[in-house]
Amino acid sequence: MGFFEKLKQSLTKTRQNLAEKLEKNFKKGEKIDDAFYDELEESLILCDVGARSSFEIVEELRKKIKQKRLKFKDEAKEELTTIIEEILKDSEVVEENEEEEKPTVVLVLGVNGVGKTTTIAKLCHFWKKQNKTSLIAAADTFRAAAIDQLEIWAEKVNCPIVKHQEGSDPAAVVFDSIVSAKKRKLDFVIADTAGRLHNKKNLMGELEKIGRIVEKEGSNLKKEVFLVLDATTGQNGLVQAKSFMEIINLTGIILTKLDGTAKGGIIIPIKRELLLPIRFVGTGEKLDDLEVFDSATYAKELFRTKEEKEQEEGNIE
Ligand code: GDP
Repeated sequence: MGFFEKLKQSLTKTRQNLAEKLEKNFKKGEKIDDAFYDELEESLILCDVGARSSFEIVEELRKKIKQKRLKFKDEAKEELTTIIEEILKDSEVVEENEEEEKPTVVLVLGVNGVGKTTTIAKLCHFWKKQNKTSLIAAADTFRAAAIDQLEIWAEKVNCPIVKHQEGSDPAAVVFDSIVSAKKRKLDFVIADTAGRLHNKKNLMGELEKIGRIVEKEGSNLKKEVFLVLDATTGQNGLVQAKSFMEIINLTGIILTKLDGTAKGGIIIPIKRELLLPIRFVGTGEKLDDLEVFDSATYAKELFRTKEEKEQEEGNIE
């Protein structure tokens, strides 16, 4: 199955629900009135777009409608699609620079249960398919169970892992991992780092120390800091992201469990309010269920009308 087909399939639930929730606001032949704006704002909030973004999107739409002197709701839909496409538009695919020294160090953060461990294994598997080699650093040393779980995945994806004992210094694990990856000329070090937001001071100290080690071991290594968020937790994900952003500079978001939510609107405030790229999306529990996020496709998918969808599906069958 090609990328687009897979993305379409995995996002069906999200899209159908969002499109349906929004569709009722754009009945053909109906005139735009004041209630239209309030109802649309409510629909956006119900789809997890968040209060602030929903309000601002509706205000922008109001301006456009006035400027263009639009009268009917179905005309407004086109404008809304454009506004949302604009928010999501830039492509997040990052070009690799072959000149850069190896390995790229990827710190993966996220609170328990968001799918961090699974995502690390998926990343390893994803890069392997592109003939890139990885090493997993078990730098979330707080729980022995977390280390064990990661080791099981590492075995499954046939990826080397560097681990120390429970309670040991996470920065030391990252240090050993970089040394080992350099020696073996591997492309990536994927580090599982702690996600205990309730103790910010400790977490900050821990991440700062890891940061210093990474700098010291390779100031010219490429670094990524990915935060894993669970799409099914809705607005809570935004709160988590903001907390992590107070501690560390993130370079991207990985949004998991997009297959399990009917409210994919969360993607909009992530881009609009946090100004962070969504780099990958998780679309299931298997290793292959990780996709590079392509926002333009996603925006189009969200607003494909029922007729367009039926037509397209008719063509496929
Ligand atoms: P961690 O505590 O953050 O390390 O979370 P885990 O990686 O252990 O995942 C928690 C649960 O979420 C597991 O049951 C995973 O199979 C599941 N999971 C992770 N990613 C996805 C995803 O993209 N889709 C679905 N449906 N489940 C996922």
